[in-house]
Parts: sequence; structure tokens; C-alpha cells
Amino acid sequence: MFSKSRQPKIAIISIILIAGAFVFFVASYLVDSAYSTYLMVGGLALLIASWAVYFFMGKPDKSKQETPENVITVIGCKGCDFREERAFATGDYIFKEVGPCKKCQGVSYIRAIYSVTPKKE
Ligand SMILES: [Zn+2]
Repeated sequence: MFSKSRQPKIAIISIILIAGAFVFFVASYLVDSAYSTYLMVGGLALLIASWAVYFFMGKPDKSKQETPENVITVIGCKGCDFREERAFATGDYIFKEVGPCKKCQGVSYIRAIYSVTPKKE
């Protein structure tokens, strides 16, 4: 699991791979023979490897950020201690009256709106 943010170790690995690729490219330029092509290919392979390391291992854990928040609306009553929670609906705001109380038929209203992040395991 890579629950922590981008690890510095991965950045170092990719830098080393890029440096290696650079050495390969310079060598392919200096070596005037059939090997220069192989050195070029080797350098390209190192570049791709460094990109792959960075992309696959250094990716921050997005699953936590994408966890949807549950917004809860708390309904209270002006006449009694009735309290109810339900899912937030569009148009909900605090102190909005939401019809008769289920317990005493008094005026019930939205007391609070809050969000909860469900814990995923
Ligand atoms: Zn009531």
C-alpha cells in the first residue's frame, strides 16, 4: 500500500534512471560504431523505466480523496425534543421549516447540517 504521498525514494530512483539514460545517450553519441544504436535503445529504455517508476509507484493515493462525503441534515422541533437525521436534500438550509413534527405536530425545522466521511477499510 502506498497510502503516503509521493515517496522521495521513488523520485531518487527515477532521477538515477534519467541520469543513466543521459549517460547512454552521450555514450551513443561518442561511440562511433554499431553499438551506438544499442546504447540509444538502452537510454530510451531507462527513460521509459524512470517514467514508469514515477507513474506507477509515485502516484498519490487518490482513493481517499475521492471518498464521497455523506451530508446529514438534522431535524429538530420547536415544541418538543424530537430529533431526526436524514440525508441532505437539495434546498436544505439551517432553520428551514420542514413541516409538522412527527411527535407533537409542532413546527419542525432543520437544526444542523453536517457531513460525515465514511471510514473505508
Ligand atoms: Zn415536536
